[in-house]
Amino acid sequence: MNKLSKYVVFSDLFTDPTDNSEKVIVYSTRTNEMSVLTRDEFRFVKGNTLHAISSCLTDKLAESKVLVPEDENELEIVIRENLEAIKHDQTLFISIQPTASCQLGCDYCAQKHTAKKLDQELEEKIVDRIINKLIKGGYKSLELAWFGAEPLTALSSIRRISNKIFDFIDENSISYNSRIVTNGINLTNKIAKELFSELRIEYAEITLDGIAEYHNKRRMYKKGEGTFDIILNNIEAVVNDPFCCLKISIRCNVDKRNKDAVIPLLDLLALKGLDKKVDNFYVAPIRSWGNDVSSIVADMESFGNWEIEWFAELKRRGMKFTLLPKRKKILCMAVRKGAELFDSYGDIYNCSEVSYIPQYEEVIDGQKVNKYSIGHINKGMKMENEIMIKDFYSKIFDGNYNCNNCEMLPTCGGSCPKSWLEGEIPCPPAKFNIKNRLLLSYFLNKEVLHIQNEKSGGCQG
Ligand code: SF4
Ligand code: SF4
Repeated sequence: MNKLSKYVVFSDLFTDPTDNSEKVIVYSTRTNEMSVLTRDEFRFVKGNTLHAISSCLTDKLAESKVLVPEDENELEIVIRENLEAIKHDQTLFISIQPTASCQLGCDYCAQKHTAKKLDQELEEKIVDRIINKLIKGGYKSLELAWFGAEPLTALSSIRRISNKIFDFIDENSISYNSRIVTNGINLTNKIAKELFSELRIEYAEITLDGIAEYHNKRRMYKKGEGTFDIILNNIEAVVNDPFCCLKISIRCNVDKRNKDAVIPLLDLLALKGLDKKVDNFYVAPIRSWGNDVSSIVADMESFGNWEIEWFAELKRRGMKFTLLPKRKKILCMAVRKGAELFDSYGDIYNCSEVSYIPQYEEVIDGQKVNKYSIGHINKGMKMENEIMIKDFYSKIFDGNYNCNNCEMLPTCGGSCPKSWLEGEIPCPPAKFNIKNRLLLSYFLNKEVLHIQNEKSGGCQG
């Protein structure tokens, strides 16, 4: 006997203008398959009166895990699959913040910037630690992310560390990929070429918070001048240089103040011919970073509504975007086996959003210590801190957070262990706009679905 899976979402009932019939879309967050039901089928499926639907439809829905065996413990299966994926992950994820310095003073940033850079002794110890991890863990690949403050203000450190790592991975046939998150100020196309060709960094993520009028009020130099023109000029030079292969992703951080700046930014990118040349464009909601941003943060329901409009714009412009969230087994570095972040003081973390944040500092034995630090390259590890966010999936399983009852769990993964620990609810916009995402996806892909259904014969009655 089957039952309706707890991991499905339904669209609202809608009338399809192409055949004037009423339909509902059902999406399995376990398999990421979308099925279309008639009004009656929806009623029977939703009401668990499954004997009333055809065996053909039952089989199809069971295949896509909209229906599952009655005795299946789906929460246990989803979490077990996640833990298995983590256990068998053969990629070591490492992030390095080579400096605590940044030229910018963004008004929503919680980091404390100083001139501190990694010294060569710390660099060597970090490289040794990465190599030991690769050897002991038997990893097949290394993924290295350069983060800030602003990593390009410590380019010499990136050069030295990268070259030492290359000596080891090349000798040991370990595959490698690397990306950088940069404010874009120093990203001239000369540097972009060096990043790609010599330092094997394939991808740079740069933030533009709308057009100049909006961006410059929030992402300014420490002394207050705007940064929009220099960043956009750098992006333009990099993507238009036929000899530069560094891929560029533009992230637009949005809160209540700049939501109207997204579409004008897309217009500007199109005007300059950059819309098709950047590899990715996405909008991310501003969230607390240990700091109080409550007066500017958008509620996720509103953000979800704006996001549907942005998706439609991206589609209209032929730009890439992901509409339906996909199964996520490894949530983030906090739950990832062996993953570590090193900051320029030598502190080690298993979360990317906690270093350099004064709000997380506590005074222990007269010394300021970040409460999320899981150790220090010279002083050893603090296992009790590591476990704080690492055993997130067991906490979900034990019902500590709402995620154990949420239909989005297979795709969302619980969003952010640190936020839950701090008492914040980090549900992503998809939780709030999934019904509209399904409708948008249906209408955007209607022709494709129609062809697929015709080929598979569909279910009659
Ligand atoms: S715990 Fe949250 S902030 Fe930290 S890495 Fe994971 S998702 Fe990011
Ligand atoms: S974070 Fe929110 S959307 Fe994600 S699984 Fe948990 S409750 Fe659901």
